[in-house]
Amino acid sequence: MSESVVFFNGKFVPDSEARVPILTHCLQYGTGVFEGIRAYHDDDTGEVYMFRAQDHFARMLRNVKFLSIKIPYTVEKLTSIAAELIRLNRFTTDAYLRPFAYKAAVKVGVTLPPEDGFAMVAVPMGQYLDTRKGLHCEVSSWRRLQDNSIPCRGKICGAYVNSALAAQEARDRGFDEAIMLNEAGHIAEGSAMNIFLVRGGRLITPDVSQGILEGITRDCVITLARELLSAETECRVVDRTELYIADEVFLCGTAAQVAPVTRVDGRTVGAGEIGPVTTSIQQEYDRIVRGRSHSHSHWIERVYGYTTTPR
Ligand code: PMP
Repeated sequence: MSESVVFFNGKFVPDSEARVPILTHCLQYGTGVFEGIRAYHDDDTGEVYMFRAQDHFARMLRNVKFLSIKIPYTVEKLTSIAAELIRLNRFTTDAYLRPFAYKAAVKVGVTLPPEDGFAMVAVPMGQYLDTRKGLHCEVSSWRRLQDNSIPCRGKICGAYVNSALAAQEARDRGFDEAIMLNEAGHIAEGSAMNIFLVRGGRLITPDVSQGILEGITRDCVITLARELLSAETECRVVDRTELYIADEVFLCGTAAQVAPVTRVDGRTVGAGEIGPVTTSIQQEYDRIVRGRSHSHSHWIERVYGYTTTPR
């Protein structure tokens, strides 16, 4: 297999040429900001659809402000770099783009140095969580970071130590994924995904001040629930015990997509099966991301520009 191509400090280079020194500030202290963007491959036409790439890059350009990192590109330029990266790597499967902006100074000391770096990598990606079955989650013993320690809305590299501890604990205890509470004891999110509950036909999700990432898939779910089910989502403080009495629970995120949860802490959620609200949102989301829906075509960027009619 030929070596993959990455975008590294202004150029497309072979992966083996994209290397940083051990003392790189971000590697030592987690001072970087990243994004995760999915690109879906259409086996019939060879087209690749990047999903909400512009929204991800806009979020990234906002989030780098937390660390005073400068990215020398616009949303449009970042989107065209992403498309070119997919073309150069000739993906024939679904892929995942990882843009990454970081403090690049090579020195010891924790203040934020002025030197910044930027890279973008694309890797093949299938299912992140098995979304065909109901997941079994635990409420983690690890609490979500607080906004005034490391802002979770920032997608800051170092903050993912918190996610890694929770995700690994869940796997070690035989669960599929963790649900994290914030320091106030309210539901925040999964290790790398937002969470929704369904109670009496209403969708409920933690509001953006609960220590969560302001997720783009979360925004899709809120939009699709309104359109498909005429259901407004309540964005509010959510108690842990609401998980145990919810009719349906699901996680959502770029990698995880829409992932049903049927057991929490060993208790059955609702009827213990994937519920109707989750199913209809999951199915419509899948059609949209694969370019098979007429709705929300502005969420899709066609990498090769083939003009196929949505099925
Ligand atoms: N929360 C966290 C902590 C995440 O890392 C992610 C993945 N980016 C999400 C939620 C979901 O966000 P999005 O839908 O924008 O991918």
